[in-house]
Amino acid sequence: MTIITRFPPSPTGFMHIGTARTALFNWLYARRHGGKMLFRIEDTDRARHNEEAVVALINAMKWLDLDWDGEIVSQYEQRNRHAEVALELLDKGLAYRCYCSQEELEEMRVKAKADGKPTFYDRRWRNKGAEDAPEGVEPVIRIKAPLEGATTLHDEVQGDVTVQNEQLDDFVILRADGTPTYMLSVVVDDHDMGVTHVIRGDDHLNNAFRQNVIYEAMEWDKPVYAHLPLILGPDGAKMSKRHGAASVEEYRDMGYLPEAMRNYLLRLGWSHGDDEIISMAQALEWFDLEHIGKAAARFDFAKLESLNAHYIKECDNQRLLESTLPLYKIRHGIEPDSAAQERIMQSADELKSRAKTLIQFVDESVFYARVSPFEYDEKAAALLDQDGKDILKILLDAFEALPSFTADDIQNVCKAVAQEHKDGKLGKVAMPLRAALTGTTVSPSVFHAAEILGRDESLARVRAALA
Ligand code: GLU
Repeated sequence: MTIITRFPPSPTGFMHIGTARTALFNWLYARRHGGKMLFRIEDTDRARHNEEAVVALINAMKWLDLDWDGEIVSQYEQRNRHAEVALELLDKGLAYRCYCSQEELEEMRVKAKADGKPTFYDRRWRNKGAEDAPEGVEPVIRIKAPLEGATTLHDEVQGDVTVQNEQLDDFVILRADGTPTYMLSVVVDDHDMGVTHVIRGDDHLNNAFRQNVIYEAMEWDKPVYAHLPLILGPDGAKMSKRHGAASVEEYRDMGYLPEAMRNYLLRLGWSHGDDEIISMAQALEWFDLEHIGKAAARFDFAKLESLNAHYIKECDNQRLLESTLPLYKIRHGIEPDSAAQERIMQSADELKSRAKTLIQFVDESVFYARVSPFEYDEKAAALLDQDGKDILKILLDAFEALPSFTADDIQNVCKAVAQEHKDGKLGKVAMPLRAALTGTTVSPSVFHAAEILGRDESLARVRAALA
């Protein structure tokens, strides 16, 4: 049997991290078993539909480097087929037309609430025919759910789950305007697409029992289910914007690498012993449904950040440069030219060892791309007071006299100047130098930076600071 999973997001305009985890798990399971992952957009909500939201999902998938098989399926496009199934169930006597008005439904709702019943629709049209139909009312089609007994579904994560059938109502499968309901569309699509495994959030576990009524009525093979526990925020409440970034796009924009995100999402609810750093190659070898935890996972921002730092260190310098180039422009309005790019590359190993995000990498290296004279940030400006300038003047002369201009040479000069003028406190010399060369107070080693900038550029920056 070929394993076929599916990723069926509703287009909301961004990709929630829970949705991304669902995509990743479906992708890993399919790829691990040489199967397929299909991509279906659940776009039946036409009132709120917009194409940009679909593009956002596709972009997020591409960024995460998760591919899918075949064309993207639009659920909306399949609506006639869904309606056809509703009519087939009607023909078979497994569904019926219900002519209740909104008022009647409201009355039933109130009554059921008063009686403490789990469902409200009293099935009053289940055994009536069209001959009883009131004039001018467009009926909905409802499915006949079992009246007694219980339904047990096996779930790969939750085990056997049983629901008393009295919890299931004769839910609507086709609306009065002829459009299918979500419950029907999902089942028909999953069946038609040959889906063998449904891996999704456990907020859909209740739906599985209602969807099961349709599978039974159509005598279709049911998929294997794996319902993933929710992702909670650090405080234990359902993960949302309130906790901080909750979408994949936000993490991308904050300078997270896709591999860090993937690794983090993988560990969010799935484990392989105590392993924290898991490459995609390992995940493709190891991923299974057995080791998905039953308990909800809590989002841990610090852990994601430390994974990101790890993957930045591992990242090839050229790729790092390519992925950060747009950020220099976005954050600083600067497009590093080839000389600046060369400097950044020379400093990349050092920058990488410090950076927790790509943003940090960019912010700490943008000075390589600046053209003197440039503005200093507030703290750097404060260091360039008279005292700082006096030190810079001394450094200027010493630098000019150096036979060679390596990080070691520069550091030795600074040490000697500190010895003579600042009681040996190197920081008192290095800090004004850093301010002059970088315009900031945060950067990799200033001696190394000066070497990479070169003598001419370094002297020009020191002179600009003195001017
Ligand atoms: N469209 C649903 C969602 O985004 C998924 C439905 C399903 O997996 O069955 O939550």
